[in-house]
Formats: sequence, C-alpha cells, structure tokens
Amino acid sequence: MIGDGFLERFRREGRIVVVGASLAGLRAAETLRDKGFAGSLTMIGDEPHEPYDRPPLSKQVLLGRATADRTALPRRRSVDATWRLGVPATGLDMAARRVRLGDGDEVPYDRLLIATGVRARPWPREEEAELDGVFVLRTRDDGAALARRLAEGPKRVLVIGAGFTGSEIASACRERGLAVTVAERGAAPLVGALGGVVGAVAAELQREHGVDLRCGVMVTALEGDASGRVRAAHLSDGSTVEAEVVIVSLGATRNTEWLAGSGLGAGPRGIACDAGCRAFDFRGIVTDDIYAAGDVARCPHPLFGYQFLSLEHWGNAVSQAGIAAHNMLSESTDRLPHMEVPAFWSSQFGVNIKSVGVPSLGTQVLITQGSLEEHRFIAVYGYQGRVIGAVAFDNARWLPFYQELIERTAPFPPQFPTVDRRAEGQRPVDAGFPDPSVPSHGPTVTLSGYSPADRRMTFTPAH
Ligand SMILES: Cc1cc2nc3c(=O)[nH]c(=O)nc-3n(C[C@H](O)[C@H](O)[C@H](O)COP(=O)(O)OP(=O)(O)OC[C@H]3O[C@@H](n4cnc5c(N)ncnc54)[C@H](O)[C@@H]3O)c2cc1C
Repeated sequence: MIGDGFLERFRREGRIVVVGASLAGLRAAETLRDKGFAGSLTMIGDEPHEPYDRPPLSKQVLLGRATADRTALPRRRSVDATWRLGVPATGLDMAARRVRLGDGDEVPYDRLLIATGVRARPWPREEEAELDGVFVLRTRDDGAALARRLAEGPKRVLVIGAGFTGSEIASACRERGLAVTVAERGAAPLVGALGGVVGAVAAELQREHGVDLRCGVMVTALEGDASGRVRAAHLSDGSTVEAEVVIVSLGATRNTEWLAGSGLGAGPRGIACDAGCRAFDFRGIVTDDIYAAGDVARCPHPLFGYQFLSLEHWGNAVSQAGIAAHNMLSESTDRLPHMEVPAFWSSQFGVNIKSVGVPSLGTQVLITQGSLEEHRFIAVYGYQGRVIGAVAFDNARWLPFYQELIERTAPFPPQFPTVDRRAEGQRPVDAGFPDPSVPSHGPTVTLSGYSPADRRMTFTPAH
C-alpha cells in the first residue's frame, strides 16, 4: 500500500485496529479522528468496561469518596469506532495483517496500535493468592472489590510492597482509620523509584501516620483459616502478622504474551519501538504498520542516552498515544519523535509527590530547596555530572524550572542559590538506590538497554 497517494487513500478508507482500550488506546483513537482519519477504527479491549482512569483506584476509590464505576475517562471528543470489549486479542499474524481474538474472530488491519499496558504481578503461590481477602489493585473490578472489603472495617490490613501503589493503599487505609502493616523487602518505601535518602522521608511519613512499617523483610507465606479466608502472613524475620486483608503490590507484568511467536520484538520487558513509537520486529528491523504506546512500550529516549525506557506513567501513555496516532497518519519526513520528559505524581499521607526526569537513573542527590526534616523539599538527582531528575514533596510549583534543567542537560550539582537552601543542600550525597540486580517491588521506570530485539550476539575471533 506504500506509494504515491497511499497515505491519502489510507486516511480516507484505511483500517486501524487498536488493541488495549484504556488510556493510551482511547487517546490515540481521539487523536486519529482529530487529525481527520476517516477510515474504519476498531477498539479491542479484554475488560468489559469503557475506558476508565486508574490513578483514582488507589486514592479516591479506596477512601470511599468515589465508586469504581465512576472513574470513566473523560472523552475529548466522540470517537466513531467499532468497540469489541470483553474479548482479548490472542494472536497477531504480521504477514496477513490480522489480529486474532479470543472468540475466534480475526480482525484485519492496515495499521495496528498496541496499547495493552501491564497487569498486577500476583502473589507467586497460587493457592495462597486465591485465599479470600487477598487482593491486587490494577483494574476497576479490583478497586471495587477492595473498597468493599475495606468498608467492612477489617481488623488489620497487610500491604506487601511499598512502591507508589502500595504506599498509596497504606495511606488510604490509615485515612479510613484501619490498622495497617506494610512489609517491604527494600530498606525503605519508594526506595526503587526515589532512592534511600528520599525513601527515609517516605518511611518517616508512614510511621508518623501510624503504619506498622517493616522494611528489609519478605513475606514468605500467607495462611488461611478453615473457611479459606486469609488470616495471617509469615515474614522472613520469623514474625507473623495477623491480617484479614492482604494487598499484594509487587509491581507489574507487561501484557505481551499474546504476541508470542508473532515475530514482533515483544517480551517481558515490553514492545521495543523506535523514538516515533513504531514497533521493531524480533530481528530489530522497524515495522511500518505496527505501533505501540503507553505502559507496554519501551522506547529510546534522547535525553537518556537513547536507552530504552519503559514508563508506567499516566502522562507518558497520553503523549505516546498522540505521537503514535500522528505518525500513523504521516509521511516519514513529517513523523515526530517522542521526546517528552517523563513526569509522575502521587499523593500519600497528606503529601503531594511529583517527579520529573528519571530520578532512579541518578547516583547522587542534592536537596536544593526546603528540608527533608520538614517533609517539604526538592531533591535533584545527578548522573555523570548532569541533572537527570527531580522530586518535589509538597513543592511542585518549582518543578517546571527543574524540568528545564533536565532538558538543557544542566550540570550537576546545580549552582544557583535558593533562599530556602539548608545545610543539607550544600553538598550532594549518594542517592541510595538499591543494587539493580536485586529484585524490588518493581520500579515504575525501567531502563531496558539498547538492543531493540534483545538478542545476544557472540563474536568469535577469525583464525
Ligand atoms: C492503582 C493505580 C494508581 C496509579 N496512579 C498513578 C499516578 O498517581 N500517577 C501516574 O502517573 N500514573 C499512575 N498510574 C499508572 C497509570 O494508570 C498508567 O500509566 C496508565 O493506565 C497506562 O495506560 P495504558 O493505556 O498504557 O495501559 P493500561 O491502562 O494498563 O491499559 C491497557 C488495557 O489493555 C487491556 N489488555 C491487555 N491485554 C489485552 C489483550 N490481549 N487484548 C485486549 N486488551 C488487552 C488491559 O486489560 C487494559 O484495559 C496508576 C496505576 C494504577 C493501577
């Protein structure tokens, strides 16, 4: 279909299929129609619901301030599309350009967008995971079920894993007046994403709000009662926590299994794409008709040495969806790279946390404003002499300034004076990230190397 007039014809009567009908899928569909795509659009989603928003699930929904069925994503415009909801895509035939569905149907496409995101990593022991009272939190149904159980007033809740989601859940439970234990394998909450210096503040916040925080321990087993309800958890330090609700918050797994054997460069680390969201095949050759966006994509980022980044960030899903949609409809010279600086927010224990750049790439950290003690500060992260990320605790209005430093690859440590710079802001210190080879609760940003196809080559010397 490539050639003179191809694009015009494609825009008029082409077929676009989007797999994954959530944030990235919906925003891409809206952009395609905004940009005048008049052909057929099919949205395939395995969840039965219209696209909804996930961040409120660990915040307003658990607090009982909104119900899970009120989280529908606001529409930017109406989208004329065929919606195939409640049915998963189970296979891809790249040569025939067809997506296979779980109900046996096949949907042909001229261009395909994959936005299948991630799912919660379950508790690894299946029998224990199935105990009544053991939850994960990723979907609207998870949120509704967990909110119902919390409203019953369990005597104690155990959260396993203190990443962003686990910490937000613990915060919501405390706000509801529930007794909470948090078990975290690392040295502090949020340590994988923000390092030990800022993680120590997150630990103080949890303890000040009455969380029974246990770090440096692993949950080794869950125990149920005779009726199959969870009643206790056993920890690696020999202790036992009695809990009626256990929330497993161990990070996420990318939804790429359905692409196995398709020939696409997809695997457990996501779908490898070029900077314009075009997917690579398994040989590392870029396809021209398959795109990926959102949590499932891994794209090279110019600000981070063109290493492949996987981001589980709301803003990233929106911006990649826009770029992918634009590029699907554009001549190669008009295509755009995805260059947006990563950004993330979280609210927990009354504190508004926002980050720009990729703090977890930093080796050193400097508190340039405020103070750790007051839990109100800006931490700037440095990597090889440049500013690579910044995190604000209750100080977000300054972040655009730090974002500009990241975009300019400004030198680290930054030299500017600030009125509220304290003694701890005079010298950078080790940021305190755990050894990346040690598994953690699953950071929401993952650097996944350079090779698009994840192949290993061996060079043997010629004789
Ligand atoms: C509880 C929670 C709180 C969060 N809070 C924040 C926050 O405060 N700030 C922030 O920046 N980000 C937050 N996030 C992350 C943010 O929600 C994600 O980055 C965003 O949802 C990614 O959108 P996506 O469309 O790429 O993927 P998803 O939202 O994961 O959507 C993918 C969709 O594809 C479907 N799918 C998967 N496989 C198939 C298949 N084979 N066939 C058909 N459909 C399939 C999935 O079921 C899902 O509906 C939070 C996430 C959660 C779960």
